[in-house]
Amino acid sequence: YFQLKDKVSVVTGAASGIGYATAELLAEVGAKVILLDIDEEKGSQAAQSLREKGFQAEFKKCNVTSKLDCEEVGNYIKETYKNVDVLFNNAGIIRRKTVVDLEESEWDAVIDVSLKGVYLLSKYLIPVMDSERGGSIINTGSGWGLKGGDKAAAYCAAKAGVVNLTKAMAIDHGPQNIRVNCICPGDTDTPLLRDEAKQLQVEEGAFLKGSATDRPLARIGTPRDIAKGVLFLASDLSAWMTGTELVVDGGGLA
Ligand code: NAD
Repeated sequence: YFQLKDKVSVVTGAASGIGYATAELLAEVGAKVILLDIDEEKGSQAAQSLREKGFQAEFKKCNVTSKLDCEEVGNYIKETYKNVDVLFNNAGIIRRKTVVDLEESEWDAVIDVSLKGVYLLSKYLIPVMDSERGGSIINTGSGWGLKGGDKAAAYCAAKAGVVNLTKAMAIDHGPQNIRVNCICPGDTDTPLLRDEAKQLQVEEGAFLKGSATDRPLARIGTPRDIAKGVLFLASDLSAWMTGTELVVDGGGLA
């Protein structure tokens, strides 16, 4: 049930962190993975390192806030692969600021990448999904999209938007045999999380430690912890799940 043999799988924000770990895990179970990222250098290296491990992987530069880029990816995948089976809308950025401190440009950037990007790429990839094969879309929300968090106002708004956009997409596209779910990670050890310490001007070690002890399982997540949840939502094991959230956070009950 976990196999995704030759399933065409698109991952955004795939050059780093959760996106890369997921691209790798999907490739390990047989998927043909198309890695998308705005960072061309890191993205091509990521795809190259997957190919060196014997996996089917290629990189395409795609800024998920660009209509043109998303449309081009849609056309390219239709021509090259004929269809898409799995779409992981994962690219996201964070600014650790309150509404008072956020510049308008920072608000716009966070909403554009983390929320609008989900809409734009889905707009061009849903038509490439085949209702007989079915499709699975997984959007990256966050624990903070469900319960809020401190000094991350635009991010919390964007991620709450992703949670409800997921439900809207599930309702609209269920009849086409497309499932749409949301993965809500807790603090996961990636460049994004470490950069939060910088943004908040706190010491990184103490920041990561505080984050680990905040939860029953008393450690922060690894990118692969999150990738496993995404694989579950991508695979047939979740065949009767749509429009829901999977919280993977070591029990972030605080
Ligand atoms: P990361 O910074 O390691 O990776 C994000 C990737 O997205 C980078 O490779 C970056 O180049 C790419 N990206 C940024 N803007 C882009 C754009 N406009 N178009 C295409 N790609 C773009 O971050 P991560 O921690 O792996 O985060 C992945 C997702 O998980 C994000 O949506 C993030 O909000 C979410 N998330 C992360 C955590 C955590 O603790 N790390 C917790 C909850 C949710």
